[in-house]
Amino acid sequence: MTDNKSLNKRREAATPRGVGVTTQIYADRAENAELWDVEGKRYVDFAGGIAVLNTGHRNPTVMAAVEKQMQRFTHTAYQVVPYEPYVELAEKLNELAPGDSPKKTLFVTTGAEAVENAIKIARAHTKRPAVIAFAGAFHGRTMMTMGLTGKVDPYKRGFGPMPAGIYHLPFPMPMHGVTAQDSIDALHRLFKSDLEPEQVAAIILEPVQGEGGFYIAPNELVHELRAICDKHGICLIADEVQSGFARTGKMFASEYWGVEPDIITTAKSLAGGFPLAGVIGKSEIMDAPAPGGLGGTYGGSPIGCAAALGVIQVIEQEQLLGRSRILGQHLMERIQRFKDRSDLPAIGDVRGLGAMVAFELVTEKGTHKPDADATKALCAKALENGLILLSCGVYANTIRILVPLTASDAIVDEGLDIIERSLAEIRSTPVAAE
Ligand code: PMP
Repeated sequence: MTDNKSLNKRREAATPRGVGVTTQIYADRAENAELWDVEGKRYVDFAGGIAVLNTGHRNPTVMAAVEKQMQRFTHTAYQVVPYEPYVELAEKLNELAPGDSPKKTLFVTTGAEAVENAIKIARAHTKRPAVIAFAGAFHGRTMMTMGLTGKVDPYKRGFGPMPAGIYHLPFPMPMHGVTAQDSIDALHRLFKSDLEPEQVAAIILEPVQGEGGFYIAPNELVHELRAICDKHGICLIADEVQSGFARTGKMFASEYWGVEPDIITTAKSLAGGFPLAGVIGKSEIMDAPAPGGLGGTYGGSPIGCAAALGVIQVIEQEQLLGRSRILGQHLMERIQRFKDRSDLPAIGDVRGLGAMVAFELVTEKGTHKPDADATKALCAKALENGLILLSCGVYANTIRILVPLTASDAIVDEGLDIIERSLAEIRSTPVAAE
């Protein structure tokens, strides 16, 4: 029988350590919010393949759409022989994206590629070079997106020089002393000290920072950014790779803004486990690059497009937007109760938008002093107890919950019970220093 230990040995010998792997279990099969490893052990999945599985592992509707597409054709290269699923999905996303402006959509394969293309399109439209992003942001691991990402370790270390023309502003984290006004002030300072606004093609931000720690962009910041972008002809890009596709109780988290982004990037849960990403934007902006300037061999794979059409159907039929909000409330309430208990490790902030929920582990109750060791210990203990749990955050002390929205209440509670038990267990076992 294949076992986790021997597979791990083979992995270490055959694949580079740069692909950091957080668990040492190897997947055998998965269904909705459950996963079984090659040794037959069952896990509740609160990671959802890093925000990819809002509609669950192997959603039957998505699988049926993919199987139907596979019977017809799997690849033509859209730029050589186009196909209806690509066009139909673009029509649907143009309709679903926030705001009244007419829209167009381009498909690529990964989130990073979507962000790369969003920047290319903004540059082609504005004929300007510079891009402003935020500290703590994660936009990908390709050259441009690595530059945009606002975290050195582990994403930038050793990979320089970074692409030119990228500037970072602080992102609001009230509990760590950064307000929306601080971010806005930093932008005005940047315009005074380093960069004229007429050189800026785009400002990019995540409506809820994902890897950065599930910090929500305050509406006052977004409204001010919208006004500044309008004043100077800058494109406002919402990176919804992690926050999109029903996670936050809306199809796109930027729907909460009340102002329209110029461009939206989407990926992850868009195609429910198949590699697909998209760039949705105002038509006049999206049409700036000349024919041939955009695309790629696999961009908008027919399998991915069929899967995404299935995902949209599931979100609509199973009313996952409402489910996301109810689930989010339930998660927040139970985590709040963990926080109130004095016999568990100290929990700091508990926050969320819809079912995009996170909590911070801190060294001392009532403070925001990050406890990265306890966070790591909790993920390890949860795994031992049968729950796949992800951390994130600039200070590596945040637990993020990305359970499929299709998970039953019983499975969600089973996962929460494991978190509760694991918190108690790490409290009684001192964490070994590395
Ligand atoms: N943007 C955001 C907001 C993300 O969360 C991620 C992935 N974590 C990316 C871009 C990059 O996506 P991918 O890993 O598919 O390239």
